[in-house]
Amino acid sequence: MTPRPTDMLDEILAFVLAAACTGCDRIGAALCPSCRRALRAAPLTVRTPAGQSVRAALEFTGVTARCVRALKGSGQTRLAAPLGLALSAVIDVAGLDGIVPIPTSRAAFRTRGYRVPELLLRAAGASPLRMLRHVGRHRDQRGAGVEERARNVRGSMVARPARAARVLLMDDVVTTGATLDEGCRVLREAGVEVVGVIALAATPRTVRFPADSAATHL
Ligand SMILES: [Zn+2]
Repeated sequence: MTPRPTDMLDEILAFVLAAACTGCDRIGAALCPSCRRALRAAPLTVRTPAGQSVRAALEFTGVTARCVRALKGSGQTRLAAPLGLALSAVIDVAGLDGIVPIPTSRAAFRTRGYRVPELLLRAAGASPLRMLRHVGRHRDQRGAGVEERARNVRGSMVARPARAARVLLMDDVVTTGATLDEGCRVLREAGVEVVGVIALAATPRTVRFPADSAATHL
């Protein structure tokens, strides 16, 4: 039976009204003005276990954490635009060949259908340089400690033959920084100069330094 036009209108209205903000669950907009403001870049610098400083656009808490989880876990790719805008605040490629994203495992790509770091870079107006490739099986890092994460990521990626000499390395979320350390190690072994490391967001439990006093490239 063909639905009557009024029934269809009711359904459409119900759908529109049911749209809730990803950041705060408020009904009415997919991302409310207040949560949009919460996603404005507030750069901070964190350090990896190997001592590499990482410039992150946002702290991985509150609205940011909810939006990143929705982008990574529930296919809400429209969030790449506001998150990419925040990321662009920590991108400075002057004199560099480009930005290398941490590679996405096959399993994660199969599940999501997109590569989160690449999606964010494109939304920030940058073209990702695919110089790292994920190898071996995907390990879920959630809940793992600093040393366990470092052990898990060792040998998890390889560098493609160098097409660029001076790059930034990038990941979506820095937790301990073990993945970024491994990315730096592999790229440097391949003769690539990693000039700086950036991320969209950093978890607050990472050791923090005042953003303007840290010796970073950016
Ligand atoms: Zn909101």
